[in-house]
Amino acid sequence: MLFALLIATLPGSLRAQEIPEAETAPTAEITVSSDRQMPLGQLGRKAVPQSYRLDLTVDPAAARFSGHVEIDVVLAEPTDAIYLHGRGLSVSRAVAVAAGRTVPAHWLQRDPSGVVRLAFEERLPAGEATLVFDYDAAFADSPTGMFHLEVDHEWYSWTQFQSIDARAAFPSFDDPGFKTPFSITLRTPPGLTAISNAAELGTPRREGGLAVHRFAPTLPLPTYLVAMMVGPFARLEGQVPPNALRPSALPVRIDSTRQNAERLDFALQGTKQIVGLLENYFGEPFPFPKLDQVTTPILPGAMENAGADLYRDDILVLDERSPVVQQRDFGMIVAHELGHQWFGDLVTPQWWDDIWLNEAFANWIGYRIGDAWRPDLGIMGDALSEGYQAMETDALLAGRPVRQEIAANSQIDSAFDSITYGKGGHIVGMIAAWLGDEKFREGVRRYISAHRFGSATSDDFFAALADVAGDPRLVPAMRSFVEQQGVPLLAMRQQGDKVTVTQLRYTTAGVAPPDSQWVIPLCFRRGETRRCFMMDQRTEAFVIDGHGAVFPNAGGTGYYRFELTARHWDELIANADALPGGEAQALVDSLWASVRAGRGTIGEMGRLAHKLIRHPDPHAADAADEALSQMVREGIVGSQGRRSFRLFREHLYMRLLKRYGFDPRTGVYAQENPARTQRRVQIVSALIGTGRGRKLRKQMSDAAVAYLAGDKAALDPTWFDHALDLYLFERDEAAARGLVEKALASEDPVFRPAALAAAARTGDKAMAQWLLALDDPRLRESEKREFLDGIMARKATREFGYDWAVSHVDDLLASSDGQFFAARLPQALGRFCSVAWANRIARDFTDKLAGTPGALELYRAIERVRNCGLLDDMMGTQIDEEFVKLR
Ligand SMILES: [Zn+2]
Repeated sequence: MLFALLIATLPGSLRAQEIPEAETAPTAEITVSSDRQMPLGQLGRKAVPQSYRLDLTVDPAAARFSGHVEIDVVLAEPTDAIYLHGRGLSVSRAVAVAAGRTVPAHWLQRDPSGVVRLAFEERLPAGEATLVFDYDAAFADSPTGMFHLEVDHEWYSWTQFQSIDARAAFPSFDDPGFKTPFSITLRTPPGLTAISNAAELGTPRREGGLAVHRFAPTLPLPTYLVAMMVGPFARLEGQVPPNALRPSALPVRIDSTRQNAERLDFALQGTKQIVGLLENYFGEPFPFPKLDQVTTPILPGAMENAGADLYRDDILVLDERSPVVQQRDFGMIVAHELGHQWFGDLVTPQWWDDIWLNEAFANWIGYRIGDAWRPDLGIMGDALSEGYQAMETDALLAGRPVRQEIAANSQIDSAFDSITYGKGGHIVGMIAAWLGDEKFREGVRRYISAHRFGSATSDDFFAALADVAGDPRLVPAMRSFVEQQGVPLLAMRQQGDKVTVTQLRYTTAGVAPPDSQWVIPLCFRRGETRRCFMMDQRTEAFVIDGHGAVFPNAGGTGYYRFELTARHWDELIANADALPGGEAQALVDSLWASVRAGRGTIGEMGRLAHKLIRHPDPHAADAADEALSQMVREGIVGSQGRRSFRLFREHLYMRLLKRYGFDPRTGVYAQENPARTQRRVQIVSALIGTGRGRKLRKQMSDAAVAYLAGDKAALDPTWFDHALDLYLFERDEAAARGLVEKALASEDPVFRPAALAAAARTGDKAMAQWLLALDDPRLRESEKREFLDGIMARKATREFGYDWAVSHVDDLLASSDGQFFAARLPQALGRFCSVAWANRIARDFTDKLAGTPGALELYRAIERVRNCGLLDDMMGTQIDEEFVKLR
């Protein structure tokens, strides 16, 4: 799974919902003798599923779906009750067939997370049995379980089961440690397309007015990877030709809601190429007999269902003229989900405590293979940016290690955050770089082939890597990074060829670092010389031959920050324009961390921004300027300092703008190098708020007017954000309402969210109030949740948004969408910057979000607000003076 919004995950287990108490078996009520036996996490192995037969009737336009499900199990011992999963299912019949006898059973959901006790009227013998269920359930409106949505006057349904929402669609042993074949039948209204993990067998036959779609049995799968989609999908078909690893062609199809029909070819061609690259990497053919790539408007990201992946529309619906960012996301996310087909689907984590490895590896290979697919897009630069961003989160005291015990269902979804993806991915990249690409790949291949169609743990993966490396120290190194929180800070002193390094934990100014120690795979570069070590002492000295200053993080792939002597910083800054892109990003990250710790200076950062401005890698060119801008946005910099910063940026960027040019029309730059296109976006963004950006603002605003009047060629989607903001900036509330109407009437996967976001960011209180109260059936729950974030992004409406959140939090948490809201709220709250606000947020929200998926994020937000305030209190005046001096 990949969440485009980091914390948008929803724990099905925690969703407020009614537990059906109805006894469904024909006999009288039974007494549950011992609830202490109820497994709130792993199910145990008393009953082990062998195979499933799902026969579901799915009409996406209806309110409910129904099913007949048979599960073959093996009972380890004679028993009169077992536990399995089902959430919100209305079960009308439950029986067990064992030893030729049919035994009635009582279905009782015992826990909101969907733990069910199934009690048999007679004791069943050990050995084989078949459990049979008839039931129905409501479709969800949000992407959890079986969900449906009306798009352009037609209804579609999809499934999203990770982590524990398969149980909301059918009775199951919903635990990733069980992998079995699934034989699936879908009964749908005639004329609809049905998609599942395996290929459909023949054409659907008609029965009782419905079309009956039968699918081939799947290879062994855990429940969370099962998929069932139904609707009038538009479809584009192709195939990946046979190759040395695969004797027959692999059928590939792109399936999307109908209005996207004309824009699916880019996804088809890209998918075929990415499949080929992944097969080469793993040295194994695509593990499943066909591949569907399906889209929905409302998934927050993408999901790796075996052979039937699901994506949010904008990830797959694009073309060669689409914004560079969108093409880059396509490459990275498709390679991520398809990488999971081997790492996750073919070999599955035994339990959710190892889901970090699944996601960390997929994150890394998404960038690695995305970059191999289109090297011109600069996808690897995104990988490093994501890692450094995760360091910001990991540097807080509130947090968690990458890998943590998961004892209960309610803890599972906390594992899907920036620590798992960003930090986990960076750690995998660090090990891959330390070992070298080929050795690392060899370790991956060994791990996959040893566990294919089965389950495995992190330790199995560590062992495979240590084995190919011939270096057992890799195991404690990986453990030290995944089993403890925090970012290592390496304080370095270079004297000639000798570098002395001391490790401690990084913290910002005014925060004492807890005692921590890591085993660090460390790579230095000095000129052409690259030297790698395994640092396992608090302080160690290393000898690095060569000339000039040592760069402490070769390639920028290490998960650590460094602190240098003033002279060493100066040397690196002076030559920053010649650093490889990844190292330039690492230098910015470490220097910025030093500034926020009260050691580095804004002046040094300004010099670095100057030096990097012409760097050929846009990620590097932009990094220092972006860090300074962030401090301005936080409100630490006073009006004098802000004015100087605007002049500083004009000085840096005006000449570049002349060289790059600007034309907002669609596709004008479609043929140029993507790095150049991305750089133009950065230059325009930097200048648009300055005194000399007047002409840019006028061009943008005029283009928006023309676009909204129907001239689609007037404004490239690359500029939607700026242009729509400016369009609304000059107009009144009526214009903002008009834009919202245009958004809701549109199914364009890029325009619609951009227009709604712009409407939330006007900084106008009346508009904010209108949006928060907006009740329009076309407005989706996921879209409503974004409004508050946009409103609080603007200083002028931040406090208004806060007061609204305080007075509505109870109702919102109690709503059917409450857990999504809880997960999203802390990000909006984290935009304040003072100790007083930190205390106020803690007072108003700590109790409210306790036990929700937003609990840890809230602690992080409070700490961010407090740290920002501490920095302002301790150094605000000095920082402001330094900004004034920027040249
Ligand atoms: Zn994933």
